[in-house]
Amino acid sequence: MSLLLVCVLSAQEQTTDWLEQGIDTYLMLLYTSPEEAYLQLDALHAQVNDQTATDSLTRLYASFTLHYLHTGQTEQVEPALERLLTYARIHGSTDSMVEALATKVEVCFVQQRLNEAYRIIVELEPYLAHAQQPRVRYYANNLLGRIYMQDNHFELASEHLYRALEAVQETNDDRTLLRSTFLLGQLTRLHADMKNWELAEELMQQALSYADQIASTEFLADYLLLKGYIEGEQGNHEASALTHHQAIVQAEIIDRQDIILLSLNNIGASYILLHQYDAAIEPLHQAKKLAKALDDENTYQLVLLNLAYIDVQQGRTEQGLTQMRESINYFREHARRSDLERFLGEFANALQHAGYHLEEAAILREQRVLSNELFQSDRHRILSEMQQRFLAREQAHRIQRLEQTNALQERTIENKQLQNRLILLAAFATALAGVLMWQLYRKVRHTNRRLKEANKQLEFQSLRDPLTGLFNRRSFQQRMAKRWQHKEHRHHGQERDALILLDIDHFKQINDQHGHAAGDDILIEVAKRLSQSLRQHDQAIRWGGEEFLLYLHRIKPKDLSTLVERTLYLLAEKPFLVNGQSIVVTATAGFITLPFDNIPEEKLNWEKALQLADLALYSGKAKGRNQACGVTGLRVPLADIMQCFEQDQSQPLTLQQLTCSTIAGPSVHRT
Ligand code: GH3
Ligand code: MG
Ligand code: MG
Repeated sequence: MSLLLVCVLSAQEQTTDWLEQGIDTYLMLLYTSPEEAYLQLDALHAQVNDQTATDSLTRLYASFTLHYLHTGQTEQVEPALERLLTYARIHGSTDSMVEALATKVEVCFVQQRLNEAYRIIVELEPYLAHAQQPRVRYYANNLLGRIYMQDNHFELASEHLYRALEAVQETNDDRTLLRSTFLLGQLTRLHADMKNWELAEELMQQALSYADQIASTEFLADYLLLKGYIEGEQGNHEASALTHHQAIVQAEIIDRQDIILLSLNNIGASYILLHQYDAAIEPLHQAKKLAKALDDENTYQLVLLNLAYIDVQQGRTEQGLTQMRESINYFREHARRSDLERFLGEFANALQHAGYHLEEAAILREQRVLSNELFQSDRHRILSEMQQRFLAREQAHRIQRLEQTNALQERTIENKQLQNRLILLAAFATALAGVLMWQLYRKVRHTNRRLKEANKQLEFQSLRDPLTGLFNRRSFQQRMAKRWQHKEHRHHGQERDALILLDIDHFKQINDQHGHAAGDDILIEVAKRLSQSLRQHDQAIRWGGEEFLLYLHRIKPKDLSTLVERTLYLLAEKPFLVNGQSIVVTATAGFITLPFDNIPEEKLNWEKALQLADLALYSGKAKGRNQACGVTGLRVPLADIMQCFEQDQSQPLTLQQLTCSTIAGPSVHRT
């Protein structure tokens, strides 16, 4: 039981309930009345005191920043962001850093500074990998998912959106349903973009039913628009037109002119595809007027393209084609590539109808190049595989959680009942009862043991990686905290502790060539081999997907090099046998001692040392993989390095600041 208590207590210390709830209320208000919502933020700020947890205060500062951003108070955004980042860097935990950096990413994203957004994402990612609070993981992953989606990085987008969904599923509060609804909508959009219509439709149904549950007209209007779009894409044009009419009804309630505009255009497009050109003209003319009024150039051009298509179909050929060429030119410059691809198809149809076959061929070629770029052949496969893996994992987790709590509860109840009976009997102790008591006493002891076992199993599961059985990050963090507590870091003589960070080379290729299941088997075998190279007090940790960390307790520098080399050989020398196939697996490593270069760990702690090892690892990747790079010293004063850790990305850590030594792996022959 003690294990459970520790978790609850530390979670309480990280956040402050009244403030978290206050910000949730703010978010609810924001929907209906931004001014009132802002007053709420201000009121919360006034109540902040010494007891307020860092993470919650960070969230408050982030809320201010985003409030200014989304309500168009542009000049307030930068100062608020600055306050947020400074606060997070000085006081912050990992979660605060994630919150602050993600907010900065969102600011850059909304302000269309994508390059800068990506630069900060690089800084954000290592923190995100360690983030604890589900809400924070949800926020950052959801944001990254949206960014990657807009940028057509479908796989990355999907990975982050599913991670966000996983995080939301760990929460159970007022916003859980809202966030799930939002994410399901995003995932629907993603799969629609990928043309995974079946999956998109399934997700769509769920998103709509969630939107219904939270009675959100906003979501309903949005998702009906999306539903209509998906129906249209699948060739159900009557249904699509109908759904778009429903979307308009909802959108009118909340005065979402943008949804009305797109729905009108899509109704027109549906009739075009049903060859009912006259019926298409009216909604398209309405859309044209509305687009002009809203100053929405993209949709305006789209409506013009559709109207021009009708012109061509109805014999006003030259007029129609001229307009279509103009609109397509506009889209070449301004549209997303997936949209341009569709518009080119429409244009090619018009050219065919008009008998302009040469131009038609050129447009079709342009369209094909684009669609090849967009949908590499196995993308669909990878995505549905990921979807299935997600569902399977989710189910397994749920079963595991249920089993754990059930087992624990059963044992506790059983134990309590027995103890009660024992006390009762003791009160009426007779000779006969004495015998019974002895039996009961033995039974209690037995269930006590089972209770202990259940607890132990629970502890094991929370500290181990389920796939490989190695320790997980959390347990390593605990180990390092203990190391500090027990002053194990104080070394004498030559011996040091050491960290070796390993990343399997070209693992994606292995997955692609042999399948994810084979990839999993390899991870299990890697874990086995790594464990073999360790000594009694060392630890092997699954650090992330195909990244492993070895923690070595007290080792001489000379032995460290030998051990690193041996590890590279242990992996690469003997091919892995999976499903009767022999697969060569190599890894690249970065390593460092603790303390590093005689710098006290109060200054350069293990997390920073690990960042240096990570940098060394990447230099090993760049130099051809299958090797280990050890960080051996600094080329610049320590103060410079510390600044890199503390300052903004303006001064990133670089390899030039470090001296490194390289250990080569065995020469291998990849098949
Ligand atoms: P590099 O040599 O640069 O490290 O190449 P890489 O292909 O290993 O690069 P990257 O780190 O980008 O890819 C890691 C891949 O590992 C991506 C992800 O799909 C896969 N992966 C992560 N976790 C698991 C897992 O649990 N099982 C399987 N089968 N694959 C995983
Ligand atoms: Mg990797
Ligand atoms: Mg890798």
